[in-house]
Amino acid sequence: SSGSEENDVVVIGGGPGGYVAAIKAAQLGLKTTCIEKRGTLGGTCLNVGCIPSKALLHSSHMYHEAKHSFASHGVKFPSVEVDLPAMMAQKDKAVANLTRGIEGLFKKNKVSYVKGYGKLISPSEVSVDTLEGGSTIVKGKNIIIATGSDVKSLPGITIDEKKIVSSTGALSLSEIPKKLIVIGAGYIGLEMGSVWGRLGSEVTVVEFAPDIVPSMDAEVRKQFQRALEKQKMKFMLKTKVVGVDTSGEGVKLTVEPSSGGEQSTLEADVVLVSAGRVPFTAGLGLEKIGVETDKVGRITVDKRFTTSVPGVYAIGDVIPGPMLAHKAEEDGVACVEFIAGKEGHVDYDLVPGVVYTHPEVASVGKTEEQVKALGVDYRVGKFPFLANSRAKAIDDAEGVVKILAEKETDKILGVHIMAPNAGELIHEAVLALQYGASSEDIARTCHAHPTMSEALKEAAMATYDKPIHI
Ligand code: FAD
Repeated sequence: SSGSEENDVVVIGGGPGGYVAAIKAAQLGLKTTCIEKRGTLGGTCLNVGCIPSKALLHSSHMYHEAKHSFASHGVKFPSVEVDLPAMMAQKDKAVANLTRGIEGLFKKNKVSYVKGYGKLISPSEVSVDTLEGGSTIVKGKNIIIATGSDVKSLPGITIDEKKIVSSTGALSLSEIPKKLIVIGAGYIGLEMGSVWGRLGSEVTVVEFAPDIVPSMDAEVRKQFQRALEKQKMKFMLKTKVVGVDTSGEGVKLTVEPSSGGEQSTLEADVVLVSAGRVPFTAGLGLEKIGVETDKVGRITVDKRFTTSVPGVYAIGDVIPGPMLAHKAEEDGVACVEFIAGKEGHVDYDLVPGVVYTHPEVASVGKTEEQVKALGVDYRVGKFPFLANSRAKAIDDAEGVVKILAEKETDKILGVHIMAPNAGELIHEAVLALQYGASSEDIARTCHAHPTMSEALKEAAMATYDKPIHI
């Protein structure tokens, strides 16, 4: 272990922010130790977030397709059924392989790994209560806090991970609930609602705000909501939960309009609370060494990720910005580059966002509402997947590409895609924005036929001129 010698970098937290920072630091020649309390690396993302949710989204999609779409493609089975334990086992195997993979990367890059709960006792010392028992002190010239986030609870609702679950419980239910209520229409709620809806649950999403996924372009969001409604997901928007009763067999939820009014009762077997996430800094000793946080508990940092205490840095979900794994990773690399005396850079305007439902919704840059608010003259180019030959060939054509470009220069300002594989398609747009491309740059780039990517080319044509296929 690394306890006795001083490290150049000590990272607290082994999630996408922390483990990437640790590997990068070691690659830059810095002596590095990473402290993680969970027992496995990969943080929220690998253990109870991105990865297990995508595993279940894929498996449940396969089941749903087998049940509802295969026959129309001429693939017939006498019957299709769900083997939930097998589905969960495949998810668990994927998670286990990936978390172990990171341990392998630590060894390969000579990152020391200490399993335990870290607590700052000075700006250069972390005391760790190790998982084996006992404690040790890990010293470092630089300390990076990458402790991530935790489920946000709602007042008056106790999460028991059985009847009232967080996303963590929703990733390992032992039975398919007949009725599932999802509180919160953010991407996590919609993804988990989709999983269980496809497996047969009746899903109702209760949302306080007037819209689902508030960060989304409004026009795309409307189409997205319609797509989910076609899959029988029900929405109760502008609705707040005022009471929960778990005394009976299932759960009784009392709701009322957000602005007040008549109450009603909803019944469910399982309720998923997915009303956001909060920075996790419990037991870290921030106050003791004087690391400042904002009013919602996020650690405040400057452009170099330095906290109010020199030598102590913070990255990922625990600081302001989108709570996404790839953003945490970018933070981690840039932070370590600064520590190593290089320049680090993260462009927060170009962090893509993806909702992994079916169809997926992916976006980068500005929404139409944001462009309007900026007061720039702009053009919109759209192309529906109904006019895309690949999407039609595979009979999966629900969706659209929408491009926003500055009128005067044709510079792309934002791209929004709803499509089965939008999360992959978006990166051509991310790269285009990164290079300050115009929509004509995309339109004049040869795209292979037949691909879904051609819809982006056609939407680009539609932005400054006319598309060919519609
Ligand atoms: P975390 O991943 O939370 O890691 C922090 C780690 O620090 C944890 O392992 C924790 O145990 C450890 N830790 C905390 N305190 C201490 C301490 N004092 N000592 C030692 N260790 C400590 N993001 C995406 O980009 N794409 C997705 O598809 C996606 N899907 C998601 C689905 C779900 C259901 C959830 C819940 C989240 C999802 N996210 C997704 C968000 C993503 O998981 C987070 O943005 C990401 O994990 C943040 O990385 P991080 O390193 O900042 O923190």
